[in-house]
This record gives sequence, C-alpha cells and structure tokens, in this order.
Amino acid sequence: MAELATGFDCRVCGRHHDALPLSFSVRAPAAALLIPADELDRRVVLSPEQCVIDGRSFFLRGRVVVPIAGLDEPFIWGVWAEIGPKDFLRTQSFWKVKGRERTPPYRGWLNTDLPLFGSTIHLEVRVRTQEVGRRPHFEVMSPEHPLGREQSAGITLERVQQIAERLLHSPPPSAI
Ligand SMILES: [Zn+2]
Repeated sequence: MAELATGFDCRVCGRHHDALPLSFSVRAPAAALLIPADELDRRVVLSPEQCVIDGRSFFLRGRVVVPIAGLDEPFIWGVWAEIGPKDFLRTQSFWKVKGRERTPPYRGWLNTDLPLFGSTIHLEVRVRTQEVGRRPHFEVMSPEHPLGREQSAGITLERVQQIAERLLHSPPPSAI
C-alpha cells in the first residue's frame, strides 16, 4: 500500500501515526456486504477484481485516482462499480488481451460508500480500461459531487491527512 513514511500527528487520537496512507480499499462491493452470511456461497461470486451477485448484477474493482498537489504519487480510492451485463461480458472477453486499454470507456455506478463525501453509492463513473494486469480507472462524471471535484482539482497533503484521520478511526465496513 502506498504511504508516506513521514507519518503525521493525528488530531483525532493525539498520537503520531508512523505512516500517512495514500490509498484506501474495500474488498467487496457494498451490495455484497448486504447479503446475509448464510446466503453468500449461493448468491455471490467474489474475486479480488470482480463480483457477480445472483448471476445478474456485475461489479468491477477499480481505482478513483486523485492527484495530490506537490506529490508525484496520487491518492487512490480502491472501490467497486456496478456495470451493465454487456460491458461485463465484453470486459471478460478482453481481460487478458494486450492492447485492451484502447477499448472505449463505458458507464458504471460506484458501489462503495465513502461517507467522507456524503454518499458515493450509485455515483456515475466513466470506466477506463487499463493495460492487462491493472485495475480500471473510474472517473466521476459529476463535477459538483465532492469526490468528482477532488478528482478533477486534486487535493492537498492536508486533505490526505484529514482522510487518514477519518478512515483510521472510523473505517467503513469491509475496509482492508
Ligand atoms: Zn489517530
């Protein structure tokens, strides 16, 4: 996981944390977290990159990349988006095909809630396929949404620290 080894003085717990994380990820889409544990085996197929629920809802794990002012490395939200069945099948068909990053982008809807931004569930994104072995990039379509605004304008290190303080001490479910 990307992080800054300088750490930071935390305003929530008052201690010094040894690393400032530059990414945050969840291991499953929000829709999968709502399914009762005893139904998971029957209804959910989950891999580190993809998730299918009830054979008819399709999700991909991807990255919302947010530039950080003054730093070469961006902040990365490792989140999930629901995509349509046709796009899912198409994505499967070129999963290991060299040059797949040249395929056109398509629509998706975030399926990870980041309460830091009000709500991000069902927020529309443009899904951009990356080269084989890399997760797709999600570009938030709404420039007015706080996450969309931060993605297009970038954030400061001070904001990265705020995010870390919030997530370290009250992480959303399924954080990894
Ligand atoms: Zn702390």
